[in-house]
Amino acid sequence: MKHYAYDEWLKYVKNELEDDVREAYEDHLYSCDQCLELYLTAVEEDDLPIIENEPDFTDLVMAQITNQKQLTAVEEKEPKHPKKRVAFYQKSIFHYGVAAAMTLILMSTGVFQSLTQYAGGVESQGFKEKDTSMTEGIVDKTFAWMDSLERSNKEDNKE
Ligand SMILES: [Zn+2]
Repeated sequence: MKHYAYDEWLKYVKNELEDDVREAYEDHLYSCDQCLELYLTAVEEDDLPIIENEPDFTDLVMAQITNQKQLTAVEEKEPKHPKKRVAFYQKSIFHYGVAAAMTLILMSTGVFQSLTQYAGGVESQGFKEKDTSMTEGIVDKTFAWMDSLERSNKEDNKE
């Protein structure tokens, strides 16, 4: 079996070989661990010139990492505020919605009518008096109904 020299593998890695020669190299690589090692060493060697200026390279990498960290820090900070604002806004809307719904329910059930009965406002006195008379009518009817109920109960007890 014909083995390839390290320099030859380096040429292969650097893509300096003809296509048909490359294929022969590749075929050999599948069946030869010895040349695979040489090939892998050549790959590592080929990568080295990129990091020729190692301190500069390290500085560059560190600078990029720091930049990315700062960027992500900014990216993390920025969406937080609008999110909070949106959440608060949505909360407020929700509370206003609940308050509005409660107001409608209280108004329709006449709770505010009985409340205005107790509130001694001067400006809408006429309105309140009307309301009070109406409510009083209902209350009177209720009392009358309760009285009749009580009376019938008493009558039942007498028997
Ligand atoms: Zn070989």
